Amino acid sequence: MSDPLETRVALVGAGPVGLEVAARLAQRGIECLHFERGEIADTIAWFPPGMRFLSPSVLLSIGDAPLETADRAPTREEYLAYLRSVPRRLGLDVRTGHDVVDVKPASGGFALRVRGPDGELDVRSRQVVLAIGELAFPRLLGIPGEDLPHVSHYFEGTDGLAGLRVVIVGGGMSALEAAEACAEAGAKVLLSYRGADFRRYGGPRRRDHRRGTARRQEAIRELSRQGRLELCFSTTPTAIEPDVVRLRREDDHDASIAADRVYLLTGHEPDLSLLAAAGGNPERPVADWRTLESDVPGLYLAGTVTSRSYAKRRFIHDARDHSRRIVAHLLGEPAPPLARPYWRRPRRRRGPVAHWSRRIRKRLRRGLVRTRRAIRRGARVLKARLRGHR
Ligand SMILES: Cc1cc2nc3c(=O)[nH]c(=O)nc-3n(C[C@H](O)[C@H](O)[C@H](O)COP(=O)(O)OP(=O)(O)OC[C@H]3O[C@@H](n4cnc5c(N)ncnc54)[C@H](O)[C@@H]3O)c2cc1C
Repeated sequence: MSDPLETRVALVGAGPVGLEVAARLAQRGIECLHFERGEIADTIAWFPPGMRFLSPSVLLSIGDAPLETADRAPTREEYLAYLRSVPRRLGLDVRTGHDVVDVKPASGGFALRVRGPDGELDVRSRQVVLAIGELAFPRLLGIPGEDLPHVSHYFEGTDGLAGLRVVIVGGGMSALEAAEACAEAGAKVLLSYRGADFRRYGGPRRRDHRRGTARRQEAIRELSRQGRLELCFSTTPTAIEPDVVRLRREDDHDASIAADRVYLLTGHEPDLSLLAAAGGNPERPVADWRTLESDVPGLYLAGTVTSRSYAKRRFIHDARDHSRRIVAHLLGEPAPPLARPYWRRPRRRRGPVAHWSRRIRKRLRRGLVRTRRAIRRGARVLKARLRGHR
């Protein structure tokens, strides 16, 4: 085997997060070898055709390369074309078609085994960053028939679905989008969700995500009211047969639903075998949130691969914070202060209402001061009178 390739940082994965980390490493002049097993942004290519992201374009751009789109948020096609143009625009070197199959601690850092188009490569690096995403493994339901040819855990689009009976299982964004797209394409859709209603998103989420999710949920309800889609809450699939899906209802009775195509869109799990091979803990991938380092010194995680440790931060814009922290730690700089999450940024008030509310608050404050002054003056007068009576 030829001599190993030497580098400071080995970066694995070229999804949006891997690209953001690569851009920041390049900005700070840190040497890096970047490997991607498929094409750039391979997993975004699996998203349903025509899907529109919920995040606005400004939050999805990478490094200093602006993402310009006709609408506020990009479609899957626009974003894919943008991501694939990023290495050229930012002068990044991504080795596509290179699958990192092993990472082991070695003297002075790590030894990686990489399977490329021209055979295996040996790579030595001081640090490793895993930006390998979380779409590697579908979350299986563990029911009979899950592996039948007409069953899929990924939605590939609506081609050829018109007129077919499609059963979709799940209540998250992927399931809602797939159900809406299939109904629009003329398929006979049944959406099965285990909850008694769709989840109401609140708390730590961006406002546009909350609104986008609520809008999609409402669109599904509207399609159901129009009779273009059957919505079955409180149901779980128990078995899949070549042309039937068995759904268990709340009353413990099974219903048999005829189906030509079944999509089980119940989420994904990251593949943490590389972390485990290096001696890390797959149950708690990130050991220190200030640096994004795992419990193997020098091995970092960025992006959605961290979701098992911290499920709330799985958006592309969180990657900016991840890459800042990793690069600061690599350079021995103090950890940057925690970025205020976007959903907690204070809303700036503008316009006449804000103007009036400011004036009212000012008057109230003034009124309060006057009242306090009057009370104090009253107390003084009262004291003086009492003194006079003595
Ligand atoms: C339907 C849908 C809608 C979404 N909408 C939004 C949205 O509006 N806003 C938002 O912020 N997020 C959204 N997301 C989430 C967003 O897509 C993910 O957060 C993002 O793709 C994560 O990027 P990543 O780089 O961490 O992982 P990925 O995009 O999955 O990239 C990981 C890359 O690593 C590569 N890889 C994996 N293992 C290896 C290996 N061993 N060797 C080499 N390469 C490897 C993979 O091929 C892949 O290209 C959405 C997700 C879905 C499914």
